Amino acid sequence: MTISAKGISVLESAASVCVLTGAGISAESGVPTFRGKEGLWSKFKPEELANFRAFINNPDLVWEWYTYRKNVMKDVKPNPAHLALAEMERIVEDFTLVTQNVDNLHQRGGSRNVYELHGNIERSYCIDCRRPEQNVMLDEQGKAPRCKSCGGLIRPDVVWFGELLPYETFQMGAAAAARCDLFLLIGTSGIVYPAASLPLVARDHGAYVLEVNQEYTDLSSRVSETIVGKAGVIVPEMLASMKNTRKRGTNSE
Ligand SMILES: [Zn+2]
Repeated sequence: MTISAKGISVLESAASVCVLTGAGISAESGVPTFRGKEGLWSKFKPEELANFRAFINNPDLVWEWYTYRKNVMKDVKPNPAHLALAEMERIVEDFTLVTQNVDNLHQRGGSRNVYELHGNIERSYCIDCRRPEQNVMLDEQGKAPRCKSCGGLIRPDVVWFGELLPYETFQMGAAAAARCDLFLLIGTSGIVYPAASLPLVARDHGAYVLEVNQEYTDLSSRVSETIVGKAGVIVPEMLASMKNTRKRGTNSE
């Protein structure tokens, strides 16, 4: 599918853009959903491991899973959609990127200011003193990592099932959604609230809401336009439309 004439004209003229991305954009890079039928971890559902009680009951097992996921991520690269969004950040005056993904691919693709609703798998912190840690994994004995300053358990800095989203991050995203002219909804089914409320906030404040997904979603009937297809193809086309009317060289690196 191609972008409508109306969509192109909004892409060309929007001064304030807010984007929400989800698992679909990462799937195009080959990030698995960890809900597959095959492999070492197939006997667990993600929600059985990604929750605080599972972590306290068996931190070694939960860290084994996150260590596996981090190792998978080493072989995964940002795709053209990630790269195009990073470039949009450089050419649009007021640009906000909100993501439900924890995989760090936006940052690796060059995005600088990313509002992470579900945290980031690259970061960790101590559950007792909250000291942050980078690049932590299972140790050689298969034990969960411990805090160097207080000995407490270290957990991944991600939002687990049953936990609240970071309030300030969500509020910043909601404020950006309320003030934008154009809202892009990319690779997310729109069923997980409160993130799914962001495109509706944008719509209710008069923004043009453009959805890019591989199939129609629960939100499709409530957005301005849905483009069914790969984000890796469509988002670069959107960037090209934005560049039509914007000077080159502004905000250059
Ligand atoms: Zn500590």
